[in-house]
Amino acid sequence: MVRARRSILLTILLCTVFASAQTSSPVAPSVPPSANQAAVTPAFDVRAAVDAYLAKMPPAQRARSDAYFEGGYWLLLWDFLSTVVVMWLLLRFRWSARMRNLAERLTRFRPLQTALYWIQFIVVLSVLTFPLGVYEGYFREHKYGLLNQTFGPWMRDQLVGLAVSVVLGAILVVPLFGLVRRLGKNWWVWGSVLMIVFAAFVSLIAPVYIAPLFNKYTKLEDPKVKDPILSMARANGIPATDVYEFDASRQSNRVSANVNGFANTQRISLNDNLLKRCTLPEIETTMGHEMGHYVLNHEYKGLVMIGVVIVIGFAFLNWGLNSSLGRWGEKWEVRGMTDVAVLPLAVIWFSLFFFLITPVTNTISRTMEFEADMYGLNAAQQPDGEANVDMLLGEYRKLDPGPIEEFIFYDHPSGRTRITAAMRWKAEHPQSANADEMARPLFNTK
Ligand SMILES: [Zn+2]
Repeated sequence: MVRARRSILLTILLCTVFASAQTSSPVAPSVPPSANQAAVTPAFDVRAAVDAYLAKMPPAQRARSDAYFEGGYWLLLWDFLSTVVVMWLLLRFRWSARMRNLAERLTRFRPLQTALYWIQFIVVLSVLTFPLGVYEGYFREHKYGLLNQTFGPWMRDQLVGLAVSVVLGAILVVPLFGLVRRLGKNWWVWGSVLMIVFAAFVSLIAPVYIAPLFNKYTKLEDPKVKDPILSMARANGIPATDVYEFDASRQSNRVSANVNGFANTQRISLNDNLLKRCTLPEIETTMGHEMGHYVLNHEYKGLVMIGVVIVIGFAFLNWGLNSSLGRWGEKWEVRGMTDVAVLPLAVIWFSLFFFLITPVTNTISRTMEFEADMYGLNAAQQPDGEANVDMLLGEYRKLDPGPIEEFIFYDHPSGRTRITAAMRWKAEHPQSANADEMARPLFNTK
């Protein structure tokens, strides 16, 4: 252990010396490329450069970030189990049947019955899972120093989230049960299509109607940041005239940016933590990554891939419902597939499916994220800035997992994978080395 650490120290030392030698002429087009390469490439050890970046985070902080992220693996299981238990309670004690009866007493109009059932369902679910939710979203986040909010504003966000779930859920559940009633056995085929359309719809309205409920979005004005970003956008064929900034610091210090929206609502946003905590090369490489998502059409490709997952999931759900309804349906007073009271059972099967295929959905996402990284490196040409941003993300994502761990649990590549890609890129583009970025301390070393 001690030895390993000492060797990391040594590599940092070597790298710092190396870095200053490397960028003594920061922009040197006059140097013939061959001479430049000869001076740098043979000596550049990608692995050592990666280790030097990883060593920027003090061991204590690294241990804390690892513990936080690894705890998240267990939360996947606890979330799944708690959902199953709550759903089982709803069925076993016939609360689900009672909620349906109430909805039927209030109105004879079936779509409205479904909506009324849904409202009761989501409220009861939120109340019953509240203790775990508070631990996970509030106390645990505070324990690891990742949340800036006091309880009041945090609770306000939860309630807004609940309201969004009530509305969006009703928009999905009402036509879904309409389809089940009309199509009988084959409901799941058109059900999946409906689900995919719904996902596209949520994606379309999210930046305009949902995201602003939680954060304030403004157009980025600072020309020192805005101009290089828009220049990069133009160079990459992105018809953007604005970049958005949002106040993520309301919730946490996490650095992040995103592309969201669909069709004409698609936009690139970066958060104020990124603006406050990062240098221009770091912001540029992050924006390069986001532009990668945009240019590579990840929003649409993701929808197609998730669409395939959903079709399989609905087939599984259909099978699961049929096999369990025959056995317990009567006891739970669930009349069949067309009865909304079946919803808790559907949630059990659907959660089981998504729990089991976690590695698949994570790999879909992680693969696209890696593509965006590659795009960002080529677009921004800031491998050292990229490595620093990857380190900052290491505040909440374990930096150096094993390969199987990364395959199962990571929806983005790990810090080591991303920094390795950046350093590999840098090895082939020695002129891109940035000594300031390499030397920049990212964390408080106490
Ligand atoms: Zn991304």
